[in-house]
Amino acid sequence: MATINSNYLKLKAGYLFPEIARRVNAFADANPDAAIIKLGIGDVTEPLPEACRTAMVKAVEDMGDRDSFKGYGPEQGYLWLREKIAQHDFQARGCDIDPSEIFISDGSKCDCGNILDIFGRDNSIAVTDPVYPVYVDTNVMAGHTGPANEAGEYEGLVYLPINAENAFTARIPDEKVDLIYLCFPNNPTGAVATKEHLQAWVNYAKAHGSIILFDAAYEAFITDPAIPHSIYEIEGAQDCAIEFRSFSKNAGFTGTRCALTVVPKSLTGKAADGSDVALHTLWNRRQSTKFNGVSYIVQRGAEAVYSPEGQAQIKALVDFYLENARIIREQLTAAGISVYGGVNAPYVWVKTPNDLTSWDFFDKLLHTCHVVGTPGSGFGAAGEGYFRISAFNSRENVNAAMQRVTKTFKG
Ligand SMILES: *Cc1c(COP(=O)(O)O)cnc(C)c1O
Repeated sequence: MATINSNYLKLKAGYLFPEIARRVNAFADANPDAAIIKLGIGDVTEPLPEACRTAMVKAVEDMGDRDSFKGYGPEQGYLWLREKIAQHDFQARGCDIDPSEIFISDGSKCDCGNILDIFGRDNSIAVTDPVYPVYVDTNVMAGHTGPANEAGEYEGLVYLPINAENAFTARIPDEKVDLIYLCFPNNPTGAVATKEHLQAWVNYAKAHGSIILFDAAYEAFITDPAIPHSIYEIEGAQDCAIEFRSFSKNAGFTGTRCALTVVPKSLTGKAADGSDVALHTLWNRRQSTKFNGVSYIVQRGAEAVYSPEGQAQIKALVDFYLENARIIREQLTAAGISVYGGVNAPYVWVKTPNDLTSWDFFDKLLHTCHVVGTPGSGFGAAGEGYFRISAFNSRENVNAAMQRVTKTFKG
């Protein structure tokens, strides 16, 4: 009889988004005339930049000609794309990253999960609370945790609370942890990390032989010139950090699929016999065995992000969402609600007014304003009392939603 990976049974049923859908549907059924505006989604809404579409159309034509047709590409991605990424995203910021240290993939979500393939079973693992659920659930699936408690915290994980009191940047742990997930600009809080904060993490990781798994999916939203875009802007990070990046949020590739992971050649982990092994070698082996590359057409689309037109078009996209975020921040603040994030990130993290729980605030917004957001408690126990509002929407929807909210909360 075939057995299953019983770690999957430890996973708390996907609760957050199904529960949101259940409540929204129940309300919509009872109030068929209500024009519900959804500011809960973590998906982009605006179409693909023209430069990317033009490049992909051309790539489709390449595929129709015997001379330019492409079969399997390199598992690591085409060199012409990796060179552009190395140059524009890293070398231009003073980070000494070589194209051979960049691995193209079809998403950061899968890379964040797959990276666990190359690490041992007994690492201690730290995540922030609240957190992007993928980091936690992939560790549960890999058998790195015990069961979850009432609050949804898994035994064996080190949770680092992030809240208004610590400016949404976690304390550096007293205990030794081997793997640390950091996400800046942060989903869900919209917070960013200063150079000093990241330097403290890098110093910690180097002192303890830990590896930082740095998710920079939202780096394009950084507006403050003092905030680092890459962990490799921090001295010593090339010895202790893997960085994940994606074209999903800067170029609207959520449905097109292209991302990258940087594994510096200087990074090592310990083998059972105590020797140091290069993580780059292991990840290269993992990808060459289990992955066959991103389609040529999509990689040409991603390459176009780095053309002058592409750069201008993705900047316009990011600016559009940031203006939505500004409107959300300004309107909520005017209504007397405390907000965080939304300056260097497409998410505004709201402190629920009148000490409402995250779900009570959800219900109040839905019932009185017909606006949907995401309860902070769904991202972790320490998210209780907070609420995420996404700037990924049309200007029209954002304006309409904010008018309704200010009307209700201004009294
Ligand atoms: C959207 C997002 C990503 C990007 O995931 P893809 O699989 O590349 O679309 C990565 N990390 C976080 C925290 C995100 O919110």
